[in-house]
Amino acid sequence: MVFGSNASGEGFLSKMRDGLKKTRRRLQEGFEAIVDFSSSDEEAFEELEALLVQSDMGARVATEVLDELRRELSSREASEREQIFSRLGALLSEKIRCDDRDRQLLLSSDPAVIMLVGVNGVGKTTSAAKLAHLLKERGRKPLLGASDTFRAAAIEQLRIWGDRLGVDVISHDFGADPAAVAFDSIKAARARGADTVILDTAGRLHTRHNLMEELAKINRVVQRETGCPPDETLLVVDATTGQNALRQVEMFAGAVAPTGIILTKLDGTAKGGIVIAIEAESGLRVKLVGLGEGLSDLEPFVEEGFVRALLGLEE
Ligand code: GDP
Repeated sequence: MVFGSNASGEGFLSKMRDGLKKTRRRLQEGFEAIVDFSSSDEEAFEELEALLVQSDMGARVATEVLDELRRELSSREASEREQIFSRLGALLSEKIRCDDRDRQLLLSSDPAVIMLVGVNGVGKTTSAAKLAHLLKERGRKPLLGASDTFRAAAIEQLRIWGDRLGVDVISHDFGADPAAVAFDSIKAARARGADTVILDTAGRLHTRHNLMEELAKINRVVQRETGCPPDETLLVVDATTGQNALRQVEMFAGAVAPTGIILTKLDGTAKGGIVIAIEAESGLRVKLVGLGEGLSDLEPFVEEGFVRALLGLEE
């Protein structure tokens, strides 16, 4: 089963607009400050480029996009501001455009297993609960596995979310073997007719080596029990952490082969351009975005809607 966006709807766009308010406000103030914006005004282009870099989009992408924009506009008579921004939006969308399938969750095992990985505090446990909610809304029967046994609070938090959602949570005591939780979660899903297991995992152990070993062990257990690795290994990163988010992507990508990214807290940052930097630098796709702390604030990512919301472009 392919689980993706049906997010062309207004709901998604207005949420994305709302979530990206801080980033857009910052960018638009900058745009307005560029008074004499015409296609021949080099200073204006430089200011625009600096604004894009400040949104955490990455210097390489900002330069490439602005170079292309200059090239396109130099062949025309002076262009209107609106046209320039609309063209800028199109060029940014192209930077992150991909096949729809690459943004979807591909859930084919029975039960399907989704493993969430990432450092502490990025929003992993919350995202596990939000994802359970989203899957339930789309007619699936999820079950949560509390494989972050390193933090008692994470186990308790997941139990509370599970109660609220009416979703079973499989947990062991603090300090138990996380791979054993994964094993029990898969068994419980089979016994209880759940079709998707969402595993929350630890974000910090005594050493990074231990953490990656532990994730690999969970992976092996899933493989043994279902015949294949987790259907999705989603790396959770926090949009507010800027360049740190990029470093986390690098660190986990080398160790656990993520199949995609959940980018949380887009609502809490003025640097939403990080989406573009992550995709351009890592080649991984952002599949879901967190746009708030509530259960329904996790949305499948849609690039066109994102860019329109980022730049404040009309439909
Ligand atoms: P974990 O340590 O990675 O499991 O992180 P948690 O799930 O405990 O989340 C850490 C904090 O981030 C909590 O206060 C969450 O409510 C908050 N959080 C998670 N996702 C989002 C989001 O998309 N937007 C906002 N504003 N806060 C979020």
